[in-house]
Formats: sequence, C-alpha cells, structure tokens
Amino acid sequence: MQIRDDDVLLIIDVQNDFCADGALAVADGDAVVPVVNRLSERFDHVVLTQDWHPPGHSSFATSHPGSAPFESIAMAYGQQTLWPDHCVQGTSGAAFHPQLVTERAELVIRKGFRPEIDSYSAFYENDRRTPTGLAGYLRERGLQRIFLAGLATDYCVYYSAMDARRLGACSASVISARDQWPRNPLDIVPKIAPRMLAVPATLL
Ligand SMILES: [Zn+2]
Repeated sequence: MQIRDDDVLLIIDVQNDFCADGALAVADGDAVVPVVNRLSERFDHVVLTQDWHPPGHSSFATSHPGSAPFESIAMAYGQQTLWPDHCVQGTSGAAFHPQLVTERAELVIRKGFRPEIDSYSAFYENDRRTPTGLAGYLRERGLQRIFLAGLATDYCVYYSAMDARRLGACSASVISARDQWPRNPLDIVPKIAPRMLAVPATLL
C-alpha cells in the first residue's frame, strides 16, 4: 500500500527491558527491531513511545509487600497487574534497544511516569482518562493514519491500537514480535492476536 504524508508510524516501547535479558522480556522481542527499522524508513513521520517509571512505581510488585509479579491488585482506577521492576527512569533497561533507529523520530512520548498510575496505551494512562498528549500532537500535525509496531500485542500495542480506533484514527495496522515474521516485512499481513482482529487491518 501507499504510505501517505499524513501517516505516522508509532513505535511502541522497543526498550531493553522488554527485549532479551530484560526485566520483563518478550519472547523473541529483539526480532522486531530490524523489521521496525525497515518499516520506519518508509514513513515521513515516526513517533516513539517509552515506558518511563520512577523507582517504586505503583505497578511494581516490589511496591506492594506480600505481592508477587503478575498478580493482580485493585487500584483506584481498577485492576492492575503487578510487574517486575522495569523501565526505571534513566536506567539502561529503560533505554531504547541499541539497534533501534531513533534519529528520525519526531517525538518521544514517555508514559507511566506518574507514581500512582500505570500506562499501557500511548494515548491514555490506565485510568483511561489521563491523556499522554499524543492525540493532541497528531491532531495538530494533521497526522491521521496511525500504524503501530512494537513488542507486546497483548498489552501496550493492543491498548494503543484500541485507543487509536477510539480516537477516530483512519486505520491502524499492527505488527509485533509475537506475530510470525514474513521474510519481507512490507508483505506483512498482520498475523495478529485474535483480540486485535477488532482493529481493521490495512496491509502494508
Ligand atoms: Zn511499565
């Protein structure tokens, strides 16, 4: 398909802690990096997101004595899964993967920096009301079609894609490390998790 000048590639959380040997590694997470790099060459507009937690963040199991990672607890805004400490501000785990090409990114959206609330989506934190500012940025820039690439279809990529749809973005295509990679990334027919089928896919 033709990439237009009002398209944006949103690269979700391609950070060391989500890659091999990271604190919250996604299986084969590193496999996404060269594919994302080749995809981003085709876009005039690239935006990165970065999970960016202060030490002692409320989504960390270590902040809740007696709790273990991957348990769920009730927070003021609803149920929250607890995670191992990850993507702590300023640490190497929070840095982008060293092979990720970041120079062309026009914007880096940091999320999850409020101590009391987690943020999976690039658009809204987990209370579903606190905006990250990304929607306003895209609107002011006139960027209407959002394409997403990232590591975890079931969390950050999923919630970002759903919010993109909710905000009326023209379309959202999704690739992630948990999909099967075709030899040519531009032939991707999104082999997406079943839940993602709610998002009409545009073929790249
Ligand atoms: Zn996080």
